[in-house]
Amino acid sequence: MTTAQVGVVIVGAGPAGLVLGNLLLDRGIDCVILERRDRAAVEGRARAGFLAAHSVRVLTEHGLAAGLAARGKTHGTCLFRSDRGEFTLDYGKLGLGEPHTVYPQQELVRDLIAAFLWRGGEIRFGAEAGGVTEEAAQARVRVRGGADVTGRYVAGCDGHRGTGRAALTARGTRTARRDHGVSWLAVLVAAPPSLEAVGYALHERGFAGHMARTDTVTRYYLQCPRGTDPADWSEDRIWTELATRLRTAEFGPLRQGPVLEKAVVDLRSDVLDSPGGGRLWLAGDAAGLISPSAAKGANLAVLQAELLARALEAALAHGDGTGLARYAADSLPRVWRAHEFSHWMSGLLHGPAGQDDEARYGRQLQYARLESLRTSRAHQDFFAENYTGI
Ligand SMILES: Cc1cc2nc3c(=O)[nH]c(=O)nc-3n(C[C@H](O)[C@H](O)[C@H](O)COP(=O)(O)OP(=O)(O)OC[C@H]3O[C@@H](n4cnc5c(N)ncnc54)[C@H](O)[C@@H]3O)c2cc1C
Repeated sequence: MTTAQVGVVIVGAGPAGLVLGNLLLDRGIDCVILERRDRAAVEGRARAGFLAAHSVRVLTEHGLAAGLAARGKTHGTCLFRSDRGEFTLDYGKLGLGEPHTVYPQQELVRDLIAAFLWRGGEIRFGAEAGGVTEEAAQARVRVRGGADVTGRYVAGCDGHRGTGRAALTARGTRTARRDHGVSWLAVLVAAPPSLEAVGYALHERGFAGHMARTDTVTRYYLQCPRGTDPADWSEDRIWTELATRLRTAEFGPLRQGPVLEKAVVDLRSDVLDSPGGGRLWLAGDAAGLISPSAAKGANLAVLQAELLARALEAALAHGDGTGLARYAADSLPRVWRAHEFSHWMSGLLHGPAGQDDEARYGRQLQYARLESLRTSRAHQDFFAENYTGI
């Protein structure tokens, strides 16, 4: 059984799929979103929080920024700590002069769902795509336990384990990938931020990070061994380790509160050689996964959704396929630049373990990089431009 054909079938109601859906409806292109989870689960999934100025511009231009304008916070400083002291960078005033807007991803997703439904869009929650096949003038999405959905195009926005990516790789698209060999325990706590800035702490026990989310919720990261079970990390252990690595004895205490969520994230990155072709196109984590070390993933998802919406509109409304043909060339250089910076950040934040000569050499490079960032205006501008640029 098949339901009627639409212009674009979007698989996945994360930032990529929801921005794409809203932009398509704005341009008069009909689409339907298939999402395997239920609405509450999608709206409750806490992940990103730092939106680049480019993402805010896209959301604002399309009437999707009321929530972040009302509740988001402008953020433009980060602080680095190590056994050699601490320093702060006003990155929002350096480089491009663009700060971040801090707005939790789940709140953005909630806003995007409401806007999509308000525009008359349809989201089928609980509809898990089981595969995508291309036919002469359409593409078909198989829905587990339901009717197939067909569209002139399919947009795979279903993350890095989704069906869109599987369909592309099955037809030969290769993936460039790197395992950064590092994992983070990502912790969300019900406590106000402890620092004015994003905090990056380098420590011989491993990296620790502090990121504001809202006035009452803060995200912390603790580097941990690969294979770590979050259940082994009690609240006491988390706060003790954070205090050690963030050097609270020297720099002041953290504002503590109950742990709301803890999960282990393995830092891995990959990019598909091409984000689509024919009737199937990908955006967001589906097209490339980026390690969270520079907070780029959601921002790349918005960028790709914007480019893909324009290209799909040209193809569907004007029979002009040049935008789709150029989609890879338009998006990949920017994606790779974000990966290069994210990789650079990963090298800055994670020193080698151990005391052998190679580890000691690696650690001195880490200090040298940090010192250059502290003292060189050129290096600070490089950091700021890449930290906030998309
Ligand atoms: C701890 C953490 C912190 C982060 N911090 C930041 C940050 O500060 N800034 C930043 O820019 N990025 C950050 N990121 C990355 C960011 O969250 C992701 O890059 C972003 O969610 C990607 O959006 P997406 O829409 O491509 O994919 P997703 O958000 O993964 O959405 C994909 C959707 O598709 C659905 N789906 C999957 N398979 C199917 C299927 N078969 N059928 C139907 N639906 C399906 C999923 O349920 C999901 O809702 C962070 C990530 C993590 C893990």
